Amino acid sequence: MRSILVINAGSSSLKYQLIDIDTESVLAKGLCERIGIDGKLTYKPTNGEKLEKDAPMPTHQDAIAMVLDVLVDPKIGVISDMKSIAAVGHRVVHGGTKFTKSVLIDDEVIGMIEECVPLAPLHNPANLMGINACRAVMPETPMVAVFDTAWGMSMEPKNFLYALPYEIYEQYQVRRYGFHGTSHMFVTGEAIKRIGRAGDPNVRVISCHLGNGSSVSCSKGGKCVNTSMGLTPLEGLPMGTRCGSIDPAIVPFLVNRMEKSPKEIDTMMNKKSGMLGVSGVSSDFRDLWAAKKEGNERAALALDMFAQGVKRLIGGYSAEMDGVDCIVFTAGVGENDAATRELIMQNMDYLGIDFDFELNRTCPRGREVVLSKPDSKVVVMVLPTDEELAIARDTAAIAL
Ligand code: ADP
Repeated sequence: MRSILVINAGSSSLKYQLIDIDTESVLAKGLCERIGIDGKLTYKPTNGEKLEKDAPMPTHQDAIAMVLDVLVDPKIGVISDMKSIAAVGHRVVHGGTKFTKSVLIDDEVIGMIEECVPLAPLHNPANLMGINACRAVMPETPMVAVFDTAWGMSMEPKNFLYALPYEIYEQYQVRRYGFHGTSHMFVTGEAIKRIGRAGDPNVRVISCHLGNGSSVSCSKGGKCVNTSMGLTPLEGLPMGTRCGSIDPAIVPFLVNRMEKSPKEIDTMMNKKSGMLGVSGVSSDFRDLWAAKKEGNERAALALDMFAQGVKRLIGGYSAEMDGVDCIVFTAGVGENDAATRELIMQNMDYLGIDFDFELNRTCPRGREVVLSKPDSKVVVMVLPTDEELAIARDTAAIAL
């Protein structure tokens, strides 16, 4: 059996998943939390009992060592020894313009990821900690970096540039990068297969990754044409707690009026805005629908603003690509929230969409399903995203 270990390292946490690459099945997954504080390990083998234990893990290296220990444990482990881990795939948030696709990790690559730290000062250092920890604990195992921004690298300048002085782009690499790239790539690739258009350079897909963080992306022939997040994940849709696109002049205006620092405004825009900020209720769509049912008007307004934002992006991207063949819903809201999908899909027949509202209401949550009627010109579907599998596939293709 050849397995791939997928790692998503944060500053004090580390998510992992072990995938049998031949069957594409998950052998085990889990989480290390509170690294450097006290430490907690969660481990869930697919065919076994979930384990949760407090365990000191001062560094990411300790966390990885603990994960490997539990994976090969004679009683509760899922592999006999570490040699059956053929490669490790690391999620890396920002690859700047340097990385247009996944790469085998070596010292040079690590240096280049470090150079991207100014673009993602919170995420890239944490991702690097995960990479360095793994290299220390399993030095013989090949590792691959999979970048969240790589998907957006096929955008043309007319779509990725901001209309600031050109030197700003040249000097500071201020441009649109987009995020959720691994998810958009995965669901777009799967959708193209499902509609029987694999290899067609003209197939146009709009993927709606709607979760706590949300972005919509459009692609031709499986290559990103545009995507709604920008230099940072703040651009685009209103999200759980992020404001999405606003008039940029609001920032200096509020710095003045509220006598706050730009950093404080930035925190407000990232943590206290979006669905939470507008509704005053919650960032969670389940809470918002419950509040709307009870007559909360601001919860209803937040939901309307979100749906309108998605609709506007679908319309805009259809115009940019001279039409659309397939629209995909994915992530927490996209896969589970039929009421939000219904709101987005109102009056879309002008695009050739014949949406099956009844099926949308009754279909099981979180499962793959086609929601357009058979004669609809545009196929609309729900496709559960699987970023870990996408990382494992890229890792296997590069490292094995
Ligand atoms: P993240 O961006 O953190 O990965 P997810 O993609 O997991 O987020 O999405 C989380 C969001 O999905 C939650 O905040 C919640 O609003 C929404 N969600 C999950 N399940 C449901 C459901 N059954 N109905 C409505 N919304 C849901």
